[in-house]
Amino acid sequence: MLKLPENFRDYEEARREGFLKVKALKEQGINVVGIFCAYTPMELIYAAGAVPIGLCGTSEEPIPDAEMHLPKNLCPLIKSSYGFAISEKCPYFYFSDMLVGETTCDGKKKMYEILNELKPTHIMHLPQGQDKEHAFDYWKAELLRLKEVLEEKFNVKITDEMLRKAIKERNYERKILLDFYELGKLDPPPISGYEINTVLEALGFQFDRMKQCEFIKERTEELKEKYEKELKGKKTNRPRILITGCPLGGVRDKVIKTIEDSGADVVAFECCSGPREKMDLVDETIDPIDALTEKYLNVSCSVMTPNPRRFKTLDSMMDEYKIDGVIEVILQACHTFNVEAYNVKRFVTEKKEKPYLEIETDYSKLDVGQINTRINAFLEMI
Ligand code: SF4
Ligand code: SF4
Repeated sequence: MLKLPENFRDYEEARREGFLKVKALKEQGINVVGIFCAYTPMELIYAAGAVPIGLCGTSEEPIPDAEMHLPKNLCPLIKSSYGFAISEKCPYFYFSDMLVGETTCDGKKKMYEILNELKPTHIMHLPQGQDKEHAFDYWKAELLRLKEVLEEKFNVKITDEMLRKAIKERNYERKILLDFYELGKLDPPPISGYEINTVLEALGFQFDRMKQCEFIKERTEELKEKYEKELKGKKTNRPRILITGCPLGGVRDKVIKTIEDSGADVVAFECCSGPREKMDLVDETIDPIDALTEKYLNVSCSVMTPNPRRFKTLDSMMDEYKIDGVIEVILQACHTFNVEAYNVKRFVTEKKEKPYLEIETDYSKLDVGQINTRINAFLEMI
């Protein structure tokens, strides 16, 4: 496995450091909005002068608390997020002035209804598909409604100028992050998938985003240089793996680390822990609300039906990252990704003629040994 850099901070460390930073933000009078999904139009929150914070739970610790109210047979991401909220173990939830959720999967949208009793929660109604003409108008109306809600809550007027500024800044950030993700295209890769994933997920706890962008930009340059000087042209027998499916925050060690410790390189992520939301920039030349509507409607999550963009992305990523095998991660009880996995498997094995492995798991450590065995058997087959 590639060595982690000396100044590497693990996810939990970054999360803990973020606690003090969010407290400092509140002391400066800055509003905080808790969010859960790649469909949230963050530019609207920034334009309202507030800071968005991701509240998706990645730990099994608060799940028993959540199970006092929610069914056991529910996605661990939802239970973990809810458990953190009700047990008051998450300072990010505590310091959030309001929450914004979307009607994505059934579990999440019903969980938001209950969360509303703890914290004001605005739920955006997401269209179920992208191909109907009225989907755009429906989603645009939801963005305009969110704009009104933020204006009222934070007593601000969000102008087009403020939105354009937020769009520009976020686009700049997307380009830098995408450049970092695309280090995985280099062969052999100069960075482990574990580091890519950790650095980018920990970004959610860095509130000075521009400073953090500069750090990532420098790290990207450093690694490109390392590739040119030390790695270019060298052959390796480590298979190149793409991970697809559900968000990976809660199973990072169990899946990504195991794959890399078992002799393969995770070079690409087709999921919300990857460049899913970063690949399309927001159009800076048209009306800002129209541009944001178009951008966020196009996120290719399995909650959309049909979901052709996911297959287009998989197709191009598998070629561009020279993928030898695909591992799909399904969080337990995530029905949309679980059902769509049938088509993903056929796409990967029949159209792309590459091996495919599906892992259904949760945040517990109970299946660590079994996952290890299955990953090793899969890699031997490649
Ligand atoms: S997987 Fe889908 S529902 Fe979950 S965070 Fe990503 S876009 Fe949202
Ligand atoms: S992983 Fe699946 S079930 Fe869990 S929150 Fe995301 S879309 Fe919903």
